[in-house]
Amino acid sequence: IWNSCLKVIKDNLPIQAYKTWFEPIVPVKLENNVLTIQVPSHFFYEWLEEHYITLLKKVIKKELGQEGHLEYSIVMENSASNSNPYTVKLPASNKKAVKNAPMNMPLNISDNPIKNPFIIPGLKKVNVDSNLNPAYSFENFVEGDCNRLARSAGYAVANKPGGTAFNPLLIYGGVGLGKTHLAHSIGIGVKNQFPNKTVLYVSSEKFAHQFIDAVRNQTTNDFIHFYQMIDVLIIDDVQFFSGKEKTQDVFFHIFNHLHQNGKQIILTSDKPPVEMQGMEQRLLSRFKWGLSADLSTPDLETRIAIMEKKMYGSGIELPREVVEYLAYSINTNIREMEGAMTSLLAQASLNKKAITLDLAKQMIDKFVKNTAREVSIDYIQKVVCDYFDLPIEMLKSKTRKREVVQARQISMYFSKKMTKSSLASIGAHCGGKDHATVLHACRTVLNLSETDKQFRVYLEDLEKKLTIQ
Ligand code: ADP
Ligand code: MG
Repeated sequence: IWNSCLKVIKDNLPIQAYKTWFEPIVPVKLENNVLTIQVPSHFFYEWLEEHYITLLKKVIKKELGQEGHLEYSIVMENSASNSNPYTVKLPASNKKAVKNAPMNMPLNISDNPIKNPFIIPGLKKVNVDSNLNPAYSFENFVEGDCNRLARSAGYAVANKPGGTAFNPLLIYGGVGLGKTHLAHSIGIGVKNQFPNKTVLYVSSEKFAHQFIDAVRNQTTNDFIHFYQMIDVLIIDDVQFFSGKEKTQDVFFHIFNHLHQNGKQIILTSDKPPVEMQGMEQRLLSRFKWGLSADLSTPDLETRIAIMEKKMYGSGIELPREVVEYLAYSINTNIREMEGAMTSLLAQASLNKKAITLDLAKQMIDKFVKNTAREVSIDYIQKVVCDYFDLPIEMLKSKTRKREVVQARQISMYFSKKMTKSSLASIGAHCGGKDHATVLHACRTVLNLSETDKQFRVYLEDLEKKLTIQ
């Protein structure tokens, strides 16, 4: 039957059009006057419907009679995934019916399209795997000064995707500070409240690779189509687009489409837009339309809270002093802190040792490779205060009590000796003393250690505690 249809079609079309649009079609089955044909892509199907519907109708009726019907089966070998073919059953012959027809399109590693269909308003049911990691929820994201703005903007966006001034929302900050986590949180938040919205998390790298594949397979239109139907698009590490002009072009295109249609865009980057190199100006200016919020290094309390959250989440228990030690000594990057925790657990279970402060110290030394390990001022202050049994706030206060002054001077001395911090920054850590005060403290400590035997014992004790071996 299909072959006779083709003959008629061939006679009625320029040969090029016939070759392009009809040769790739594979007839699948004929049942009850319904002919199913397989087309290579969604775009292909739309093209057929738009340009050749009248002709198709005619030949189908001619071959199958008035009751004749056409259904499509679409193979989608593009976009977000592992070439999952998907099938769509659409009655041809009536454009309106087609648009309202249900569609199950397991794009993007989805396992069960029936169980959890999303609905794209007014159009079609689509199933897109959002790629969200449930562990990266808002509940698991510890709030601190370092992330307050970004977190609350993210929260607002999750509650009203596309409906805030934060579009796009650009989250930027250094490695391991929680950009990816927060981006997932927003996606999870949206899905919880608006299960019908299509959310997609994708790394810039994956996006770029999909695009390259699409170009190679000549499925760029499918690629664009796919992204244009997302309601909340999260693209992680956009700095990866630097210098990739074609990728930036296609992203620009998709960005505009989504933005104009009130869809939410969330981006992360390791730099603020002003510092992004190799990025097209027009794209950068789009990035600045919404809100750029940064994540900075968390302070000590936040680091401890994050560790505790992680431990709680994975049912791990570590002695408090070990947690504090890790939080004190790894003070730049949360991912590293977690890594340290994991390898500490691994070591302890391998060697059947209890997790003690000593083990933590040994491990940290190995863990933080290459650079000579440097204790932090925070850590020094903590050890000194514990030693003299003083609350740490005292060091930062204006108190001139003898014990406090002494502890303060000792911690300044060790800070000078064991860290690369400037005198000014050491002073700042001790409640805003100036560099002369720090210098004076260091001299005083040295003098005392020569004249006062008890004092020297203190110093040696402390030095041992502070030295990570
Ligand atoms: P980035 O994408 O900025 O490099 P990630 O989002 O991958 O960083 O974060 C690194 C790790 O630190 C993740 O395991 C993440 O869960 C954790 N993390 C970062 N910030 C927080 C936070 N505020 N609360 C809880 N965990 C956090
Ligand atoms: Mg990341």
